[in-house]
Amino acid sequence: MNEKKSTQECHCQCGDAKFTVQGEPIVRMFCHCTICQEFNDSAYSDVSIFLSKDISFDDKEKVNFKKYKSPPAVQRGKCITCNKAVIEFLNLPLFPALTIIPSENIPAGQFLIEPSTHIFYHRRVEDINDDLPKCSGFIQSQMALSIKLFSEMFRRLISA
Ligand SMILES: [Zn+2]
Ligand SMILES: [Zn+2]
Repeated sequence: MNEKKSTQECHCQCGDAKFTVQGEPIVRMFCHCTICQEFNDSAYSDVSIFLSKDISFDDKEKVNFKKYKSPPAVQRGKCITCNKAVIEFLNLPLFPALTIIPSENIPAGQFLIEPSTHIFYHRRVEDINDDLPKCSGFIQSQMALSIKLFSEMFRRLISA
C-alpha cells in the first residue's frame, strides 16, 4: 500500500530552521536567474513552489530575511546558523500567496515532486543536459512560471 503522509517536516541544510509542509507543491523547477544564483550561491536554484497555506513556518527568528530587487516581490530567507537558503515568500498579482522552498530542504517523498522546466535559462552559467524544456527570456520565463501555476491550480480546482 502506498502510504501518504499528511505532513512533512522540512529543514535547512544544518537543521536549525524547521518548517512543516502539509500540501503537495504546485510545481518544481530550476531557475537560472541571477538573483537565484546569488541567493543560493550556485549556478541555479532547484525550487518547489507551494501555496503558503500549505506551509507552517514558526522558526522566523532563525531566519534572516532580505528583499532582493523586484520584480517579482520575493522575501528570501537564509538560516542565521548555516547561511543557506531556507524559504522564500512570493506575492504575484492574481495569485494566492506562494512559498518557495529550495528542493534540497525537502526530504524524499510525496512532497518532493519531479522538476518540470528550466526558467531564465538565458542567464545560465552552465549548459544543462536534460530533457526538460528550457525557457529563455525574462517575459517568457515569467509566463512559463505563471502558466505552470495557473494550470496546476486549475487542475486542483476541477478535481476537488
Ligand atoms: Zn541552517
Ligand atoms: Zn530565479
